[in-house]
Amino acid sequence: MMPLQRGGEVSKARAKIGKVLFTREDIEARLDELAEEIEQHYGNRELTIVALLKGSLFFTVDLVRRLSLPVRVDVLEVSSYFDSTSSSGGIVLSNYLVRDVRDRHVLVLDDIVDTGVTLARTLELIRREKPKSLAACAFLNKKRRRRVDAPVDFYGFEVKARDFVVGYGLDYAQRYRNLPYLAVLEKQPTARGTSRRRAARKKPSRRPRASKKKGRSSPKRSSARAKARRGAARRKGSTGSRRRK
Ligand code: 5GP
Ligand code: MG
Repeated sequence: MMPLQRGGEVSKARAKIGKVLFTREDIEARLDELAEEIEQHYGNRELTIVALLKGSLFFTVDLVRRLSLPVRVDVLEVSSYFDSTSSSGGIVLSNYLVRDVRDRHVLVLDDIVDTGVTLARTLELIRREKPKSLAACAFLNKKRRRRVDAPVDFYGFEVKARDFVVGYGLDYAQRYRNLPYLAVLEKQPTARGTSRRRAARKKPSRRPRASKKKGRSSPKRSSARAKARRGAARRKGSTGSRRRK
C-alpha cells in the first residue's frame, strides 16, 4: 500500500463551513418528491440519465435509486469553475462519451445551475446527437444568477444568488463534496487577500528602534557642535539661513 502523504493543501480551501441550508433529512425528503415528479412525467418510458460530473455524483446516485422506471446511466465530466467561487464563463468537457442517445429520452442531471452557461452548452452538445426528448434536472437552482437561457425542467431546491454552497457533491477547490448536508461557504479569501495577510504577518514593525550605540552622531555631541556653529554665525552677523534660499 502506498504511504499516505501530507501536502497538496490548497491555501484557498481555508474557508469555513457556514450556515447549513439543507440537512441530510431535508435532502432525502426532497429527493423522494423529485423522483415522483420525474416518474409522473416519463410514465414507464426508458430514461437515459446523463450525469454531469463531478458535482452531481451524489445527487445522481441517490435520485436514480429512487426511480422505478427503466434507466440507463451515462456520465459527462464538465467543469467551469477552476477552483474559485466565480464562473470562468466557459466550460471544459472531458470524457465526452455521450454517443448513444439518439432517439432516447435523455435527462441531464446537474448539481447546480448558476449562470446557466454549463447546462446550456451541454444541452446543445447532446441535442446534436438527436435524442427523442431532452430535459434537465438540477439539484440546486440559482435562478437570479442566470445569464443565458438554460431550461431547468426539474430541480431540488432554490438557493440565494449571493450564497456559494458546498456539500452533497458540491465542492470548493475539490473539497467538501463529502458533507452529507448543504451549507454556505463562509469567508472566501481571494488569493490577493490571503497573500496580503501573509505579508502583513511577515513585515517587520515600521517604528525605528532606539539605537543603543553611542558614536559620533550622539545627540549630545551634535547639539554642542550646532551651538558652536550658531555662535560663529552670530559673530559674523549671519542668520545661517542663506544656504536654504
Ligand atoms: P454555470 O455554468 O451555471 O454558471 O455554473 C454551473 C457550475 O458552477 C456548477 O455545475 C457548479 O460546478 C458551479 N457552481 C455554481 N454555483 C456554485 C455554488 O454555489 N457552489 C459550488 N460548489 N459550485 C457552484
Ligand atoms: Mg463544480
